[in-house]
Amino acid sequence: MDYVVTPPAVVAIPVVGQTARFPVHRIYCVGRNYAEHAKEMGFTGREPPFFFMKPADAVVAVEAGQTGSMAYPTLTGNLHHEIELVVAIGKGGKNIAAADAHQHIYGYAVGLDMTRRDLQNEMKKQGRPWCIGKGFEQSAPIGPITPAAQAVGVEQAEIALQVNGQDRQRSTVAQLIWSIAETIEHLSAAWELQPGDLIYSGTPEGVSAVVPGDTLEGSVAGLESLSIRIV
Ligand code: MN
Repeated sequence: MDYVVTPPAVVAIPVVGQTARFPVHRIYCVGRNYAEHAKEMGFTGREPPFFFMKPADAVVAVEAGQTGSMAYPTLTGNLHHEIELVVAIGKGGKNIAAADAHQHIYGYAVGLDMTRRDLQNEMKKQGRPWCIGKGFEQSAPIGPITPAAQAVGVEQAEIALQVNGQDRQRSTVAQLIWSIAETIEHLSAAWELQPGDLIYSGTPEGVSAVVPGDTLEGSVAGLESLSIRIV
């Protein structure tokens, strides 16, 4: 096949225990999925889950044991970290019942939903889309994917983020308002999930700003951790 411009490279993430990689199709993100984070963003009560997307090439895939780098983005003075458990979809489907959701999961990883908070807040105020606050280059750092069979208990695990060695976020995945299975049920009612999709499942409380030179260490107990430096 000939193309009129160079086709984009496949975005791919390392997988624990094998050389083959996980190719990324779409990146879905869940908004306000931990009660204490919803409160710090000014919301209370259980609302239906809602979603936004990032482009696949927003991924910064960091190898096990390495520290990746993310360029401080343009147009912002308030770049926030959001540590999240990421679900990697292995089998597609639509209208997936929560009871069947785990059959569609390939594995799990530690991810960061990096956010230009000042731009997101301005878009919220104006009732405009969040894309400029959420879907920019390098906004989705992620560590290696652990296959589901080796990630037992991950949906109750401790999740944490340290910046320069200091705790910023610490909670457990058990605190999710909408569980991973419920999230897949809602998401697959709106979009047909495909192998290669990633779901950033939401962040606990403690989001705050980072600046160039900061090193972020994200963890979910039982998964490979994620280390990235802002440059
Ligand atoms: Mn998020």
